[in-house]
Amino acid sequence: MNEITEKIKKLKQEKNAVILAHCYQNIEIDEVADYVGDSLYLSQMAAKTDADIIVFAGVYFMAQTAKILSPDKKVLLPRMESGCLMADMINLEQLREFKSKHPNIPTVCYINSTAEVKSECDICCTSSNAKNVVASLKSDKALFLPDTYLGKWVESQLDGVEVITYPGYCPTHLRIKPEDMLSMRKNHPDAIILAHPECHKSVTDLADFVGSTKEIMNYVKESDKKQFVIATEKGVYDRLKRDLPDKEFFLIKENLICPNMKWNTLEDIYNSLKYEQHEITVDEEIARKAHKCIERML
Ligand code: SF4
Repeated sequence: MNEITEKIKKLKQEKNAVILAHCYQNIEIDEVADYVGDSLYLSQMAAKTDADIIVFAGVYFMAQTAKILSPDKKVLLPRMESGCLMADMINLEQLREFKSKHPNIPTVCYINSTAEVKSECDICCTSSNAKNVVASLKSDKALFLPDTYLGKWVESQLDGVEVITYPGYCPTHLRIKPEDMLSMRKNHPDAIILAHPECHKSVTDLADFVGSTKEIMNYVKESDKKQFVIATEKGVYDRLKRDLPDKEFFLIKENLICPNMKWNTLEDIYNSLKYEQHEITVDEEIARKAHKCIERML
């Protein structure tokens, strides 16, 4: 264990803190994290913890969600620059305009959205449960935001439901092109290609399996195949490679990273705990309404 890792672990004990880390984070952060996973898992852990401090190694909306679910805890984001580009594609005004164009239709927001946006949506979802959440509405139409590709993928999985999507997207997942899929298929004909539903439809159409981070990881663990092409953020590939050394992994394209997810270093985590920075606060009324939207999903 290196010096900084030891210092973080000691501080965690002294301050009764937990560290939640998203699996797109730099992999060395796993050494100090109490929980590593996707947005759904981490939001469940944030709601459950009895720690006094939550350090969220992830992006801003995730720390905001943790604060909404655990209002009495101090929630810290190590780097304030860590925003999600997709979440920032829709603000309250844009949401209201979108809803006014399609009145009286239930609104589903992807967890990758701000607290303000969540506060005016009916129910939240993650990529793991988006299909079930939309189906649970028992409506033949649903508004979905901000990710148009996840929304349209959900529509393709459900019979008789029209999903009207807001034109948001994840710039990292849109870097994956059909040519990348075809070239991987050609170069690794025995490999299973797994893609995230935030990818463009022309990409998911070429995948053998489409699923959330957690579903991709579970698929690979349970599969008796040996080779896999990972078409999502590099953090997933890094962890699969570390955890399953008997299998072979190929990242769909070089350096497929979300720059905002990669801000955090172990030093940032240490400073965040030591100086209790940067504390996330959410307006009480917004938090109350956003809580309902998240709670319905949980
Ligand atoms: S990978 Fe995309 S959706 Fe995820 S945090 Fe980065 S910008 Fe947002």
